Amino acid sequence: MSSRIHLLSPQLANQIAAGEVVERPASVVKEVLENAIDAGAEKISIEVEQGGVKLIRIRDDGKGISKDDLPLALSRHATSKITALEDLEAVASLGFRGEALASISSVSRLTLTSRSAEEDAAWQVKAEGRDMVAEVSPSAHPQGTTVEMRDLFFNTPARRKFLKTENTEYRHLEEVVKRLALSRFDLQFQLSNNNRVVHQLKPANSEQMRERRIASLLGSGFIDNALSLDISAEASGLRLWGWIGLPTYSRSQADQQYFFVNGRIIRDKLVTHAIRQAYADVLYNGRHPCYVLYLELDPALVDVNVHPTKHEVRFREGRLVHDFIFRTIHRVIAQTRPGEQNNDTSVSTLLQGQNQPIQQQFDQQGISLPTSGSSGGTAGINFSNYVRPATPSAGEVKQQLAGYGALHPNSTQTQAVAMDQPAEQQDIPPMGFALAQLHGIYILSQTAEGLILVDMHAAHERIVYERMKSAWESDGLRGQPLLVPVTLNLSEAEVDIAEERSEVFAKLGFSVERMGQESIVIREVPVALARSDVSLLVRDVLSDMKVYGSSSRIEESINELLATMACHGSVRANRLLTLPEMNALLRDMEATERSGQCNHGRPTYVQMTMNELDKLFLRGQ
Ligand code: ADP
Ligand code: MG
Repeated sequence: MSSRIHLLSPQLANQIAAGEVVERPASVVKEVLENAIDAGAEKISIEVEQGGVKLIRIRDDGKGISKDDLPLALSRHATSKITALEDLEAVASLGFRGEALASISSVSRLTLTSRSAEEDAAWQVKAEGRDMVAEVSPSAHPQGTTVEMRDLFFNTPARRKFLKTENTEYRHLEEVVKRLALSRFDLQFQLSNNNRVVHQLKPANSEQMRERRIASLLGSGFIDNALSLDISAEASGLRLWGWIGLPTYSRSQADQQYFFVNGRIIRDKLVTHAIRQAYADVLYNGRHPCYVLYLELDPALVDVNVHPTKHEVRFREGRLVHDFIFRTIHRVIAQTRPGEQNNDTSVSTLLQGQNQPIQQQFDQQGISLPTSGSSGGTAGINFSNYVRPATPSAGEVKQQLAGYGALHPNSTQTQAVAMDQPAEQQDIPPMGFALAQLHGIYILSQTAEGLILVDMHAAHERIVYERMKSAWESDGLRGQPLLVPVTLNLSEAEVDIAEERSEVFAKLGFSVERMGQESIVIREVPVALARSDVSLLVRDVLSDMKVYGSSSRIEESINELLATMACHGSVRANRLLTLPEMNALLRDMEATERSGQCNHGRPTYVQMTMNELDKLFLRGQ
């Protein structure tokens, strides 16, 4: 009789729905943890065995479920969180579909034990896949709820086959716990795997504790190389806060990207795009930025009912949100210039972990920036008031606190340096004064704190590039006539491009004219590039233009084009610089946005403090 239409049994309906919500142990943990958070819990403990397949037990101290509601909690489309369609317009809770517990209980042996705040006894219901009519029996439990699930997918072998190894399932599950622990710093979490406590997270009520939680969840690498920010746009009611990794701390995978909208983790194309674009200028192709960011806005301006697992959202004002995220992060990154950061931890971290090749460590740790010096804000809002480097990780804090009791290590160190200096040198700029050029590649500079090594080509390239960008944005680059015009023989197609794009060329500071079928003459080049190889430069610009196509596409890709040009205009390795030239470069770096990285996202300089040098030589230990 299978061809006749009939109603599905509740169990089968739930198992089908479970396919959407319950994919693997991690999805069970997500749903049950969200319920605990929705119930106002302050302490949540998660115990799992065998990657969650054998056991998941989640206990909370939330408001609990009353005796009469217990069986209802397990039925489909039963929820206490919304009552009318209007509520969907501004959902404040994490759950609202009322199908998680029903789905989970249809594919596992589930025990739900709870004592509600209003009752003085605890009650329990059990469901074992088949037995959908739950019986309520008395139990013992403090206020709050425990959900215990055993033998996930015991009655749906087809789904069980899709599970990966115990370790893989555990990693997914741990990731879910991480996300929720990042979404609610005020709650206490404990995660145990096979009877071993893996994460023990106390409520984090200060910036330092929040950063410590991040370090313990994501490793200290991120937070040691992150900038913290908190920026609100009064008019639109948008607020973005959190931590973004320095461009030099990028990763080959997009695996350290956490974005929360009103406390809910999301993965959204619009958001990802805005952030990528903000980093576009300072990241290698194929590298991924790291971030833990929180966007807050009026719940009525965002639709969370787009997807069953609620990973996507829809913003009512997508454009506005995109621009806000892009502009905020873009400017924060632009602030990573000398004198605005107080991150003196990187080289000491290097020294602690000498089991990895140094080069790799530099890549991971990124750069460290000098501590003293003034800040020149960009036009408009002065972001430096809101942006500050992340505080040192837990271990370093402990180390430092030990020192603070007796004397302030930083201040003594600075004093010691100051006493050795001639009076006129006491006002040392952040990048210090050049001492020498090493092998035609690096500049060695003495700073108030210790020393700095600058990759002169990378640094100069960044400076030239930033200058050309701002010139382009005002009225274009200024040209300088060549003493002797240069004639270039090209293909006819290239000459055509040069002719068609002569306006763009003019704005870039070039004067280019067609001479014949296959040649052009160059009479002017941008001032900043006057000393470079003109024919090579113009050939490169032309080949970029060929790739970008129409003039509007050129305008869109102008930063890439300017980067190509900047490379021509910057000092080559092996050019000998005089001390005044080197010092001029250092001063330029201090004045330039994003001078901490070259155009390819590599650090332009590294620093070592006297402390770190002393450690290297085991001085005073
Ligand atoms: P939803 O979360 O979408 O409402 P669920 O199936 O996850 O649906 O839960 C059903 C109902 O059970 C919830 O609306 C809530 O009233 C109750 N509930 C579930 N877990 C808990 C908990 N840990 N504490 C208190 N109430 C809970
Ligand atoms: Mg729920």
